[in-house]
Amino acid sequence: MKSVKATLTVKGQVTIPKVVREHLQLKNGDVLLFDIKKGEESKEVFIKKEENRECCVCQGSGKMASKVPCVICEGSGVEKRGTETAVYTLSRLTNKYKKDLGLNYQITSLEDGESTKMLIRLSSDQLPQETVQALEKYFQIRIDEEMVE
Ligand SMILES: [Zn+2]
Repeated sequence: MKSVKATLTVKGQVTIPKVVREHLQLKNGDVLLFDIKKGEESKEVFIKKEENRECCVCQGSGKMASKVPCVICEGSGVEKRGTETAVYTLSRLTNKYKKDLGLNYQITSLEDGESTKMLIRLSSDQLPQETVQALEKYFQIRIDEEMVE
């Protein structure tokens, strides 16, 4: 295995060396996964590219209803995540689609002593119920992931 170097900046950032970017065929917006090798002594971390996932809201069809393109994958059928937080994406999408899809959301925070859980509720008078539930589940998972970080 060949090693290449990259130096960490004060902000904790590195530029991924070109040879690595080419090897992983990275492009803007790609998500990297850092797998920490188990074991106390280990100082090894594996980096890999997150492979494209089928959009979980439209199941890869690119549509949320017969004539409505999926708002999550924008009709591509492939789920992509940018750098936005889940709540930001949620408010951006509901603002954009409030009129056309009747999309609205509510966030409730539940305290259970030690931790707080953010609970998402979505509603729409235009979309099928299962699509609304799929959207709700998608955002709930993202928010739960962000709360852990
Ligand atoms: Zn989709």
